Amino acid sequence: MNSLAHAFSHVITRAARRYLVGPDQRWVFEPPSPDWTPPHIERTSLYLHVPFCRHSCPYCPYTKVRYREPLIEPYTRAALAEIDWWAKTIGPTEITSIYIGGGTPTLALGSVTRVLTHVRERFHLTGDICIETNPADVDDETVRRLHDMGVELVSIGVQSFQTENLAVLGRDYNPLVAEHALALLSESNFASVNADIMFALPRQTATGVTTDLARAMQLGANQLTTYPLFTFPYTSVGEYLRLTDVRMPNLSVRRAHYRAISEWCAEHDYERVSVWGFKRGAVPRYSSVTRDGYIGIGPGAGSHLPDGFVLNTFDLDSWICAMGEGRTAIALRLPFASEMSGWWWLYWRFYDTRIPLDGLDVALGHDAPKARRWLRIVEQAGLAAHTDGYIELTEPGAFWLHLAQNHFALSYVNTLWTKARREPWPQAVAF
Ligand code: SF4
Repeated sequence: MNSLAHAFSHVITRAARRYLVGPDQRWVFEPPSPDWTPPHIERTSLYLHVPFCRHSCPYCPYTKVRYREPLIEPYTRAALAEIDWWAKTIGPTEITSIYIGGGTPTLALGSVTRVLTHVRERFHLTGDICIETNPADVDDETVRRLHDMGVELVSIGVQSFQTENLAVLGRDYNPLVAEHALALLSESNFASVNADIMFALPRQTATGVTTDLARAMQLGANQLTTYPLFTFPYTSVGEYLRLTDVRMPNLSVRRAHYRAISEWCAEHDYERVSVWGFKRGAVPRYSSVTRDGYIGIGPGAGSHLPDGFVLNTFDLDSWICAMGEGRTAIALRLPFASEMSGWWWLYWRFYDTRIPLDGLDVALGHDAPKARRWLRIVEQAGLAAHTDGYIELTEPGAFWLHLAQNHFALSYVNTLWTKARREPWPQAVAF
């Protein structure tokens, strides 16, 4: 996306936000004031960020550093200290689910095991544990360790089973490795196995995408998460595409691929469970982002608290140092007024593609009539339809929402993350 389109996206997103939550609502991420502490929380989820990768994929927007064995112990100690910090501030909370992402968590399973033990000691864990895996790390020993940790839901970052696509993405394994890894996870009695498959890659066809989906199904994936090549400007993907003479696909290619994915999933009994996700059968849903509240452990981890959103420093050394000194690692905080948390809830229900109508009044309070007016417009445009107690997005609705989220990401997430990646302790980021 060029800078003009980026600026246009920013203006549109800002106008929509001002209309929905009001012009007085400030969106400023600032360092938390010294007298702020997180409120006590009865129940929440927990996110653990493991920031190590063997190499850096050029399209990747996530916080990560190159894997080196000596980094693991300081990382682990800092993670244990951060759990203690949260336990001290929010109380002996019930943890309703744990999501372990990265980075590449399977590069540091010894560390993850220690962290999970500590979570169980400090909190009351009642929910399931999900983890991201990398095809290159999955073997019998990995599976055994995941079971020992109590992991029930696994996701594997296949991306594609085509050699040429893996080369474009800079992935360091061949299709056979990904096939073997997915088959092994599928036959290893996890409650759910999700495969990530990318679409709209340079030179990829719609048939190529559905061929990858079919292979993932044959190998036993009961959930499929599809997503397009990320376009965060701060990733090196722009430079990479120039170097390798490939181009980002245009909107019509994305639309064709998304339609082909939706049709293929419907024909093969994978029901849509989010804008990008599909699942087959009565397996628990694997999802990284749709939890209503969570605390984050690790560099760059965010936390969604009852009084706002906070973000840890992205810099691994600064995070380790803060934890070693008993300080908070939270670099930025966005307080939530009650109106905004209702719209935040609605944003993620749109991501789920299903909006429960009874939940709408509870979450949005006096803003619920405004939300219902918006939903009626969405329905009249053919982007959603009423079902029993829900408003569900149609296939075109899910696609256009995916596009809107891309704009949102560019407008807000990119601005915030760019600053946070450059400065360990940024002063303020205003929108
Ligand atoms: S895409 Fe995954 S493996 Fe590649 S750099 Fe990002 S987190 Fe690491």
